[in-house]
Amino acid sequence: MNTPNAAPPAPETATPTTTESPARPSNFLRQAIERDLAAGTYAQRRWGGGAGDAAFHAQGELDPAAVRLRFPPEPNGYLHIGHAKSICLNFGLARDYGGLCHMRFDDTNPEKEDDEYVRAILRDVRWLGFDWASSASRGGENLYFASDYFDLMHRAAVHLIRLGLAYVDEQSADDMRRQRGDFATPGTDSPFRGRSVDENLARFAAMKAGGLPDGAAVLRAKIDMASPNMNLRDPAIYRIRHTAHHRTGDAWCIYPMYTFAHPIEDALERISHSICTLEFEDQRPFYDWLLEQLSRPVEGQALLAAPLPRQYEFARLNLTHVVTSKRKLLQMVQQGVVSGWDDPRLPTIAGLRRRGYTAASLQLMAERTGASKANAWNDYSVLDIALRDDLDAKADRAVAILQPLELVLDNWADVFGSDSHREPCAAPLHPHHPERGQRPFTLGPRVWIELDDFAAVPSKGFFRLFPPHTDAAGQAKPGSKVRLKYGYVIECTGFEAGADGQPVRVHAHVVPDTKSGTPGADSVKVKGVVTWLGQHEAVAAEVRLFDHLFLEEQPSLDGDDWMQHVNPQSLQRVQAFVSPDLVAAPPLAHWQFERHGYFVSDERDHSAATPVFNRVTALKEAKGK
Ligand code: ATP
Ligand code: MG
Repeated sequence: MNTPNAAPPAPETATPTTTESPARPSNFLRQAIERDLAAGTYAQRRWGGGAGDAAFHAQGELDPAAVRLRFPPEPNGYLHIGHAKSICLNFGLARDYGGLCHMRFDDTNPEKEDDEYVRAILRDVRWLGFDWASSASRGGENLYFASDYFDLMHRAAVHLIRLGLAYVDEQSADDMRRQRGDFATPGTDSPFRGRSVDENLARFAAMKAGGLPDGAAVLRAKIDMASPNMNLRDPAIYRIRHTAHHRTGDAWCIYPMYTFAHPIEDALERISHSICTLEFEDQRPFYDWLLEQLSRPVEGQALLAAPLPRQYEFARLNLTHVVTSKRKLLQMVQQGVVSGWDDPRLPTIAGLRRRGYTAASLQLMAERTGASKANAWNDYSVLDIALRDDLDAKADRAVAILQPLELVLDNWADVFGSDSHREPCAAPLHPHHPERGQRPFTLGPRVWIELDDFAAVPSKGFFRLFPPHTDAAGQAKPGSKVRLKYGYVIECTGFEAGADGQPVRVHAHVVPDTKSGTPGADSVKVKGVVTWLGQHEAVAAEVRLFDHLFLEEQPSLDGDDWMQHVNPQSLQRVQAFVSPDLVAAPPLAHWQFERHGYFVSDERDHSAATPVFNRVTALKEAKGK
């Protein structure tokens, strides 16, 4: 298994809460924040009560937040497990250091963004347990949209032009690409690079006025066409797009490039620590260059004030057997490979929630995978292990029979007087928490057991139900005695097979006076215990069992062919029986079904009339996975 990044040891408590933080392992991000706090880097910073320029913040109070971080998704798809990691990291650091984390939509790219995604993202972040509104006393709700800054970004562009640090280039995209050079060759200057400030202001105004078609001109930062860092070779910062934006409509036909917009968004919101993934490391010099220039005055006015935000990069979360790219996830949704963004097999937060992963288990996963500078792969099992660690103590136990086989207790009426007699039984809701109470149920003459709890001819070491038979040595062997869990000892007397030879019904006798919890319980020793449901109580339910969505550990490594690795057997629906108390539960209720693993009532499809349960994960990792 290719998991160079073994999970660090589990923290002392398996259920992180947002109120008490267990001692958390340090990492380079924590160290950076601690250094800044010790040095007072951000201590004198003023906060205008929202996002704004230098003048706006200057008239504000001393910032009550010790540090400011942000989670800045682009609303062009649903969030996935990688985003969950980023959310836990950013909101978690803010919480741990007396700071705040802003929820910001980085919605500066009109083509792929949508309000549906905005709503889904807000819901997912809240569900994960984080809140940008709890800071009302510290200056209102910290929910921001980068598109609200289009005016300020436009001003920033004009500011750069005035400083002589930006120019309108009207060459074709191909010409500009050719002039960029490569790692070995310096770039060459555009013929438009020497334009005067006034000419640039006029041409930029023309771009904004709408008379130029898409691609006719771009605004470029004027830095260094020979820089060894390609990102500093006069990057484009504004482009023409005659496309309506989901929030600003037709107000703009020019839009800022991501690399220009993002540092400005951070500075306007007075972010102190701007955390992103490693692919942005090469952008950091531009990030710093841009903010530095915008904090220089033009006609006595700086757009941004020090202290400026700083960017820190960490290794993105990579998980085996899934893809974590919104583009790829969108493709699977659009092509119907999955049922939607919340398909329980997808690593979207909506899919993980519906599958039954808890918010606490995702927080635990985020913590255990740490924050580092080294790219690594995490095995999918980190999620399952975190889920078990979260739910083992929390989830009530229950019974479901996934492959039902009928068992008839033929001497029932002889022992109890009548076939309609029901024997009351009870099981603890949780074996280690008796204070939570018991779940009552009853035993009758016909029950459902699991198909694999019966063998017509037992193999060595099989201690569950088998009938009287002749073994390999020709010896006559009696039927087995087992305990119906929390009920009676029974003795198997025979079975009926269908035309295909498969068992369709098992027969047994109740052994009187052996009920669990009574003095006679230990009078007969048994090696096997069988889970069961009384047929008179059992309710039919659909149970969905999942396997990895991709057979390959790293499907994305296969370039454009990644979709070929989709596992055709990743979803199995079985007709099962469950105990009746499960049916009335609301969607997203969790249990441990004895012997089968952790289950949840399906968020979308479960109801009392049509009960549907998803298996989140089995009790243990399957062998060979
Ligand atoms: P995708 O490639 O899936 O579209 P993205 O990085 O383009 O992801 P954004 O909406 O821009 O998506 O990301 C919002 C935040 O989530 C960013 O700060 C980004 O660094 C972080 N993020 C995205 N994917 C991961 C990941 N796999 N691990 C950690 N953080 C991530
Ligand atoms: Mg992106």
